[in-house]
Amino acid sequence: MLKINIILTFLLITLIYSPIYSQEIEVFGNLVPGNIIIVKGNNIQWAWIDSTQLKIDSQQLFVLGFDAKETGSKILKVKHDAGLVTLKNIKLPDQEYKVQKINNKKQQFSATPDSLENRIKKEREIAKNARKKIGKIDTAYYKSGFMKPIKGGIITGVFGSQRILNGVPKNMHNGLDIAVPRGTPVYAMTDGVVNLTTNNFYYAGSYIVLDHGQGLNSMYLHLSQIHVKEGQYVKKGEIIGEVGTTGRSTGPHLHWGVQWYSKRVDPAQILKMKFD
Ligand SMILES: [Zn+2]
Repeated sequence: MLKINIILTFLLITLIYSPIYSQEIEVFGNLVPGNIIIVKGNNIQWAWIDSTQLKIDSQQLFVLGFDAKETGSKILKVKHDAGLVTLKNIKLPDQEYKVQKINNKKQQFSATPDSLENRIKKEREIAKNARKKIGKIDTAYYKSGFMKPIKGGIITGVFGSQRILNGVPKNMHNGLDIAVPRGTPVYAMTDGVVNLTTNNFYYAGSYIVLDHGQGLNSMYLHLSQIHVKEGQYVKKGEIIGEVGTTGRSTGPHLHWGVQWYSKRVDPAQILKMKFD
């Protein structure tokens, strides 16, 4: 038994470090928490990251992402038609995020009244149901590349920051806040299908979720206007809505979020992604 283990370990090490096998795929993007990587290859039959099977586009392209708080080692396995298996060992470094202290005099923003609980529960349910559709598309709609969904603006909140509101620690900020006047056009960051549009939800206001295929999705929160319908296909740069301050928001801004399935990705990292 020990002998077999030694042989298997040797094989695994050989596969990981063998340059012959690693030539089979090309990996784009930084291997850091809160980011995606895009992988291109040839004759890919299947690919897995640890125990999760990945969707493959007909043009031999796939995406996967790491959550903001994800660390440690992962194994990417890619099987090619010729029977070759490429193994890549991915090591994610620890990431430190900013702490942002906010003191807001409006007390209503720090505590949720009980009367709203039902409404919030219903809205969560709607969002959760829409999310079930994410990850059903094999096509890499995102292959048109990524762009910022707002022209200009001031960054008022970064991804990953731990917010302390009136002395109370809140959830990690999972997007990028861009302050611009109300009515400023919001563009689709890349091609995709409209997964969800909402009408003035308590927290996120009126917002849009786009499904870019293979689990990659983006969110545009606190909008004043929505110009798209669920199920509609949108192109990169198409106007999908207008900036507002609906939901729990202190002024007109876009909260732009990106996820791979439910893993939270930094939109600023998305803008750095080049894969051609
Ligand atoms: Zn935000």
